[in-house]
Amino acid sequence: MKSMWSDVEAQRMVERYAQQGVNADIALRVYTSRLLGRDPSLVLHGGGNTSVKTTVPDALGRPTSVLCVKGSGWDMAEIEPAGLPAVRLAPIVELRDLAKLSDEDMVNIQRCNLLDASAPNPSVETLLHAFLPHKFIDHTHAIAVLAVSDQPNGNDLCRELYGKRMGHVPYIMPGFLLAKRAAEVFEQDPSVEGLILEKHGIFTFGETAREAYERMIEKVAEAEGRLQKNRKAVFAPAALPKQTATAAAIAPTLRGLIARCDKGKALQRMVLDFRNGPAILNYVNGRELERYSQVGVVTPDHTIRTKNWPLVVPAPDACDVAAFRTNAEAAFAKFTQRYHDYFRRHNARQDPPKTELDAAPRVILVPGLGLFGVGASKGAALIAADIAENTIQTITDAESLGRYECLSEADLFDMEYWSLEQAKLGKGKEAKFARHIVVVTGGASGIGRATAQAFKREGAEVAILDLPGDALTTAAKTLKCAGIPCDVTDASAVKAAFAKVVETFGGVDIVVANAGKAWQGKIGTVDEQVLRDSFELNFYGYQRVGQAAVDVMTQQGFGGVLLFNVSKQAVNPGPNFGPYGLPKAAALALMRQYAVDHGADGIRANAVNADRIRSGLLTDTMIAERSKSRGVSQEDYMGGNLLAREVTAEDVAQAFISLALADKTTGAVLTVDGGNIAAALR
Ligand code: ZN
Repeated sequence: MKSMWSDVEAQRMVERYAQQGVNADIALRVYTSRLLGRDPSLVLHGGGNTSVKTTVPDALGRPTSVLCVKGSGWDMAEIEPAGLPAVRLAPIVELRDLAKLSDEDMVNIQRCNLLDASAPNPSVETLLHAFLPHKFIDHTHAIAVLAVSDQPNGNDLCRELYGKRMGHVPYIMPGFLLAKRAAEVFEQDPSVEGLILEKHGIFTFGETAREAYERMIEKVAEAEGRLQKNRKAVFAPAALPKQTATAAAIAPTLRGLIARCDKGKALQRMVLDFRNGPAILNYVNGRELERYSQVGVVTPDHTIRTKNWPLVVPAPDACDVAAFRTNAEAAFAKFTQRYHDYFRRHNARQDPPKTELDAAPRVILVPGLGLFGVGASKGAALIAADIAENTIQTITDAESLGRYECLSEADLFDMEYWSLEQAKLGKGKEAKFARHIVVVTGGASGIGRATAQAFKREGAEVAILDLPGDALTTAAKTLKCAGIPCDVTDASAVKAAFAKVVETFGGVDIVVANAGKAWQGKIGTVDEQVLRDSFELNFYGYQRVGQAAVDVMTQQGFGGVLLFNVSKQAVNPGPNFGPYGLPKAAALALMRQYAVDHGADGIRANAVNADRIRSGLLTDTMIAERSKSRGVSQEDYMGGNLLAREVTAEDVAQAFISLALADKTTGAVLTVDGGNIAAALR
């Protein structure tokens, strides 16, 4: 751990923010907060907090003494002055005279003293920052410090390491009482440069941003040095199958078990994030994994993101995935039972009683393979996986030094079921397709792209499958989707692409088969190869995608949705369009076959029948030619339907959305053509 402080950078920040009317104290507070926030071995995803005491003008321009402290919802790595809300200092310092203060009252008083009523809530550790006199205060959950502190004799080890240079604060849950205790510890010896919070983290302080920051770096570096001294090699490996199954082979099974974790409750879809690598494998392959992985989180606020314990499933043998399924089911049953028991045990002492959270794991450890982060979105899954990786490093370090130990189960329960967290429950409505994983073939342009965008807008995680190239790269980047190269005329490419989707998100819920191309030719004379090429893409392409989807969906075991883009050609053939219309007619029949054969699996199959959409299939040149040959304007040609309105790719996308939502509809065709009675299904 080295200081990243740069005088040049610091000065640049001061000048940059001065232009926005932000004072130098706050600019430098932003600067070193980012330095800390960008190192995952110090803080992760909104963890940790920093503050500065400074003077800013109030609404009347009067100099006002404030504490600018990290606001909730802000990540230190990306913090801006707006993420350091200013709280009037004097009124909150006075709170120290109180004997007690509930978290709700504390939040309220802090909000009442904000200079900007629209600012985020100041950190729950605001009072700790306020009660200490220093100008700059930094707080992190540094891995190295936790590895030393998270030991049965952690307090002794920390005292030995830092001596009188650091104050030592016993564990108290963040809030008013911790703030008071920390101030008392400081006042016993005001020469200390910071505080070690038992099994929680570290505070450092100073008169300048640089001093507080560099004290943090120095203390963490000392802990790192201690961990290297007489370091033991851990962990002794367990016996594993000769060949372990891949992440793609087991993720849908895990996703299915997660979704049904809470018996008797609604299905709870989750998104997964898979990780492996030497440090993860060394950890999950350890013989004593069941011991050291089940102790609990390395610092209390992780419990809100990952729960206290990860789920450990047995190593999956590539030769016997069925056995893995049975074993994983048993592991899930044990995990959820333990969670319910834990809740019941600790809820008994709560007044008022708490609302039990879902029992689904947020981290799954798989010996021989790696780990999965689990969350309601890809973002949440990534955070869970980042924390899991950080936990692995901390516990590995702790075990290399001695034996890992964390806070008591009761302390962790108090954090997981904290009243401020409970108050958030049930608020914030989820988007329609939140937690859903959608695959769109031919998603890089036209109808496919509009469909991918529409699902993304409704909260889905979307994978676009298309031919490799710039269009795919650009669409994936612009729409913030996964872009997976895939030629649907190649059976093995389709399998590989679905494996990639599953590895990326954990499974599949909705598949839109859309990749297609319009071949033309008069049926009496057309070359057979043209017809075969068209069937290869416009029919077999759908069949391959349909099969790959069914494979994943049946492993998950909670159904799914297949959506086929078939053309009006499927029911109303146009002259010389046989090579395109015939496979589309077959694709319509294929959709119905899926509805018939897989309805029992909960898989719905439906199609959209679209006509005359400006796209790669109906290019501007074709539109110009056709309108000319019919002697009408291009607008009249495009709007040549009962409603006399042009149909767009977005209209088709909305039809797919409607069918995906229509829970009790299968085997249906939805027409999107502005009204073309000759193409009406009968
Ligand atoms: Zn903390």
